Amino acid sequence: MDLGLEGKVALVTGGSKGIGEAITRTLLAEGALVANVNRSSAEGEALEAEYAERGQRCMFIQGDLTQMEACESAVNTTLQEFGQIDILVNNAGVNDGVSLTDGPQAFLGSLERNLIHYYAMAHYALDALKASQGVIINISSKVAATGQGGTSGYAAAKGGINGMTREWALDLAADNIRVNTVVPAETWTPLYAELIDQSENPAAARQQIEDIIPLGKRFTTSQEIADMVVFLASQRSLHTTGQIHYVDGGYTHLDRKYTSNSDRVDLSK
Ligand code: NAP
Repeated sequence: MDLGLEGKVALVTGGSKGIGEAITRTLLAEGALVANVNRSSAEGEALEAEYAERGQRCMFIQGDLTQMEACESAVNTTLQEFGQIDILVNNAGVNDGVSLTDGPQAFLGSLERNLIHYYAMAHYALDALKASQGVIINISSKVAATGQGGTSGYAAAKGGINGMTREWALDLAADNIRVNTVVPAETWTPLYAELIDQSENPAAARQQIEDIIPLGKRFTTSQEIADMVVFLASQRSLHTTGQIHYVDGGYTHLDRKYTSNSDRVDLSK
């Protein structure tokens, strides 16, 4: 299937690691040019060098997206280098565990890490996206729909992202800009592996999570998230906008009574 992404310019936030890295690599595999913004430098510079050897552009931009100047500068640098932006992927974020007891300042900090830069990136990239009739893809979290406990800031941010997705899709439909969100639930990344490894019994901890994932009893892969993102960025999804797409093996919506392995009781009668 030709996704029509050859030569398109994508600006990806947090594209050096985890889900973002899979998105970056998949866009590059489809022939897109990528600008990738992160705080850390090593992984982004390594990606840039790896693809430069193959004659492909994966420009690393260093910046902390909690700083609005960094958001504006990432957009400007991408435009200076590539002349256009066709695809904005808002992906950078962290489940930072800012709870109801942590107070308003901590809550605001969490919104800065997880929500405000999504808005800022779309704001600064708006003229370019209008010119290209581009697409925006936001990465949210199942926490917006399910809650998690102890993470008010992250939950509010991800809920805000879902809300902005509908708002922007409507706002920008007349400009032929599509806006969609992809929602991971339990996606295996190096960071997730590290967290599981810190538990007393990593194998049991992993098993416990996998048991409640209906489809395949396994984590979603970063590649599976990236595949949905790239499809939504492509010419093959031209009439899809304002949607919240759960790529989670049924984790968020399917009834656990019927899908968990633990002490199965027949409740169907
Ligand atoms: P990750 O492995 O920690 O990668 C996050 C990336 O974003 C890193 O490259 C990080 O780079 C960058 N980043 C974070 N904050 C930044 C900032 N302020 N400025 C610039 N760069 C920043 O996380 P992930 O698991 O792939 O998560 C990616 C997205 O998926 C997030 O929005 C997350 O909420 C969402 N998600 C993930 C899961 C999951 O199971 N993995 C589940 C639900 C939702 P530096 O830290 O080096 O800057």
